[in-house]
Amino acid sequence: MTAILKNFIGGEWVDGSGVTKNINPSNTNDLVGEYAKADKAQTEKAIAAAKAAFPAWARSTPQERYDALNKVSLEIIARKEELGRLLAREEGKTLPEGIGEVARAGQIFAFFAGEALRLTGEKGASVRPGLDVELTREPVGVVGMITPWNFPIAIPAWKIAPALCYGNTVVFKPAELVPGSAHALSEIITRSGIPAGVFNLVVGSGSVVGQTLLEHPDVAAISFTGSVQTGRKIAQACVLSNPMKKFQLEMGGKNPLVVLDDADLKLAVEVAVNGAYFSTGQRCTASSRLIVTEGIHDRFVAAMTERLKGLTVDDALKAGVHIGPVVDQSQLDQDLRYIKIGQDEGAKLAWGGELLKRETPGHYLQPAMFTEANNNMRIAREEIFGPVATVIRAKNYEEALAISNDTEFGLASGICTSSLKYASHYKRNSESGMVMVNLPTAGVDYHVPFGGRKGSSYGAREQGSYAREFYTTVKTAYTYPG
Ligand code: NAP
Ligand code: MG
Repeated sequence: MTAILKNFIGGEWVDGSGVTKNINPSNTNDLVGEYAKADKAQTEKAIAAAKAAFPAWARSTPQERYDALNKVSLEIIARKEELGRLLAREEGKTLPEGIGEVARAGQIFAFFAGEALRLTGEKGASVRPGLDVELTREPVGVVGMITPWNFPIAIPAWKIAPALCYGNTVVFKPAELVPGSAHALSEIITRSGIPAGVFNLVVGSGSVVGQTLLEHPDVAAISFTGSVQTGRKIAQACVLSNPMKKFQLEMGGKNPLVVLDDADLKLAVEVAVNGAYFSTGQRCTASSRLIVTEGIHDRFVAAMTERLKGLTVDDALKAGVHIGPVVDQSQLDQDLRYIKIGQDEGAKLAWGGELLKRETPGHYLQPAMFTEANNNMRIAREEIFGPVATVIRAKNYEEALAISNDTEFGLASGICTSSLKYASHYKRNSESGMVMVNLPTAGVDYHVPFGGRKGSSYGAREQGSYAREFYTTVKTAYTYPG
């Protein structure tokens, strides 16, 4: 029996009132670990601890914050292989992807360590004679963080690091499917020198721990990443709470990748395969609609099929594997349901979609590509969140752009073209938060804003210096020196 890993509340590791089992999706006989589940009372304790710790942390110096965040960064990066293995084992992305994500988390902490030193205010002349006007940024208070399972360390990092950087205190609720990376990250944060109560970890379900965070008057803000369905509930709860909470939502996508006749075919195929299928297609920025103009359509589909045949789907921890398993049975059921829906709608399953058997029992699904589809089909409109992509034929650039924007989502989009004219036009007219030219829709930098528009995002952007919009509140002070 391994020990049940605990929650961190008010500076202490505490037992929970239940247990979350962390299962390896590459091998469902492999129990990664057991984690204490917090209940409502423990979540309230964590909120109280964060509230008590707030005044002092809000007044901590930039040097203290820099030191803590920098320490976290250094340890994450030094342990990236070990933590990357844990991440790949619990979530199912491949080992190199897992290590890459851990390194990214470390870089994010380093960036916000620096940001702590860069926060300054503004002072200006008043329109009234003799007065000074000052603008300063203050922390918001206790921030509740609710994160999804698909980036078990990077998403928590890009919320926790700016929250601490700007002087907020944190109650962190990770997704129940991936408590391992959350626990490891939390353990590193607890040793960074921050005072008790500044950071709290509460593992547990959305309906108990999440709901408590949403309803509690002492939680000033909620940063959420997850599905649109949950995002809507979060927004409602934040508005109905008294006082109302500040909130930011990063949600789903149905991201288009346009491939034009003049694209470099080899590059376009690499961009599409990476964007649609890597990380098992379980990225909010995954390219799930491949919109291809007529002159290249058949060559693109043929080259994609060849490339997909060469991909190895297997245990995430094995060397040379391109695509790991689907995260769990319920996500696999959803993927299979959509593959059936696509066929019933009349799209052609040009490749894949079969369940695969490997040495160990895991949720292995062959990457699936639909062709002969149109943008009104459910497989082109609803987020599947698996290794399933739909090729849609377009007459020309104009039609491709129109299809690209014909979606309720707006997270990421991309175009493969060698034309400066079309690339520039697409960058300007694509209705998404992040646009890529000759690059996969997934894959971003950490020092610039991340987020979308339309149904994909709500509220202030995450990451880069823009993160301060959410994690600070502006104060305008007027002084009459007399
Ligand atoms: P989800 O089901 O919406 O869950 C996200 C988080 O919300 C989990 O921690 C979940 O807890 C919690 N939750 C569920 N119901 C809740 C409630 N009533 N009150 C408070 N919290 C609640 O999403 P997911 O399945 O984990 O992740 C996949 C989704 O995330 C996809 O739609 C994907 O596009 C999106 N995503 C978006 C971005 C982005 O930046 N735009 C990035 C990554 C993923 P449990 O652990 O109990 O489920
Ligand atoms: Mg879920």
